[in-house]
Amino acid sequence: MINDLKIHNSLTRKKELFKPINPPFVGLYVCGPTVYSDVHMGNVRTFMSFDVVNRYLKHLGYKVRYVRNITDVGHLVNDADDGEDKIGKKAKLENLEPMEIVQRYANGFHQVMDMFNTLPPDIEPSATGHIVEQIEITKKLLENGWAYEKNGSVYFNVEKYNKSHEYGILSGRKIEDLQSNTRALDGQDDKESPLDFALWKKASDEHIMRWPSPWGAGFPGWHLECTVMSTKYLGETFDIHGGGLDLKFPHHECEIAQSVGATGKSPVNYWIHTNMLTVNGQKMSKSLGNSFLPTELVTGNHAMLDQGYSPMSVRFFMLQTHYSSTLDFSNEALKAAQKGYRKLANGLKTVKKLNFAQDEGSKNEQVINEIKQACDNCYRSMNDDFNTAKTIAQLFELLKKINSLHAGQLKYSEIGKEVFTKLVNTYQSFMVDVLGLKEETPAEVHPIIEALLDVYKKAKAEKNYAQVDEIRAVLKSNKLLIKDMKTGVDWAYEE
Ligand code: AMP
Ligand code: ZN
Repeated sequence: MINDLKIHNSLTRKKELFKPINPPFVGLYVCGPTVYSDVHMGNVRTFMSFDVVNRYLKHLGYKVRYVRNITDVGHLVNDADDGEDKIGKKAKLENLEPMEIVQRYANGFHQVMDMFNTLPPDIEPSATGHIVEQIEITKKLLENGWAYEKNGSVYFNVEKYNKSHEYGILSGRKIEDLQSNTRALDGQDDKESPLDFALWKKASDEHIMRWPSPWGAGFPGWHLECTVMSTKYLGETFDIHGGGLDLKFPHHECEIAQSVGATGKSPVNYWIHTNMLTVNGQKMSKSLGNSFLPTELVTGNHAMLDQGYSPMSVRFFMLQTHYSSTLDFSNEALKAAQKGYRKLANGLKTVKKLNFAQDEGSKNEQVINEIKQACDNCYRSMNDDFNTAKTIAQLFELLKKINSLHAGQLKYSEIGKEVFTKLVNTYQSFMVDVLGLKEETPAEVHPIIEALLDVYKKAKAEKNYAQVDEIRAVLKSNKLLIKDMKTGVDWAYEE
């Protein structure tokens, strides 16, 4: 299966067979957050999508080095090299050190990633930790003739680059269109053309985040940090670079130009861009004022929400749609996702209780084939450009068989030990390892619930219905149900 993974490469605009440069190693770089405010659910969607990419590659046996940076300098309020530094601005506003702002929001970001069961990257470099390297590459671009210095700032010369290379190779933009659509901004007189972008910016007197450089005190351009950090840890050309669709231009386009200009090599073999989380069809963004914070979603404390949703329900909601499609945020969709997640989570609980037994029943080839098909389809779906939506549909197929076994409608002998093991392993590994959908009730709590069920059984036997109702109510308030079955008493997540 390992050679079957196909990735939609934004660079070629085609689905391509994934061939790592140096298997079993895979280099994966994802643009991280700019830590000047709380991450919103749109950001979370993108990082969750790449979490699944990382998880699946690891599941396939690749040794992934996952690098996701922290942008702690250089991202200006206006993406076109203009305005204050987002972090510097916030620091001034709150009368704090820029690094206090960085620390606060980086901590918050990590907590959010943890809450949604997103694995940490293997390296999490920060832009301020790589100023020296950014100065070095700027010097190299000057040396190679792709950049020019003006009044303490250094700019990349896009038009010159485009004479022998293709600026727009990734985004499909044409330089002629860009020339007619890009206007010079006030205070950008240093640029020879409005298309040029900053590699290094001179720091004005009031600019707090500044470093000495051969061109005077200044700070690095936003696009440069990702070029420096990705190639430092993954090589001049590496396997996969990801980010949200809105970063394709100019951020990633500029990254390519910088790398080609500095090393003569295209930096990335596969570019992956994830689509946007929207609210009423509009991109969720802080500046549009339509963003949801993770805590608002979990607590339900938001004007558009009528209840809170658990982190795993939200994760399920996100993964039910392929990363390349937009996903619209709504109460109804979240409610349906909560139900869907709880069904699958009950499956995780049930599967642990199944014990293969040689019961009476003969092999049922049809069911065997259905199980084998659904297991293989889990791989097929993920190999089809990480299609989590199709994978989830296959998990529901497997869940039907798990529930039938549990209810005794399907006999173990009908499927045999080998197929039974495949069913259990595939369900658990795709749910937990690949999709990162775990049970939300901590394992330590399960024995306490079981103990409560013993009290329930005793109360029932003694016809103490007041206590029976009380125990039911306690569990229900925690969204857990007691199930009285022919085979005994059990509990489940309320669906
Ligand atoms: P930023 O901190 O603004 O650099 O954004 C961090 C990541 O979140 C980037 O990869 C963005 O493309 C992504 N992002 C921002 N808004 C959304 C959204 N509404 N939906 C999905 N991803 C988003
Ligand atoms: Zn980046």
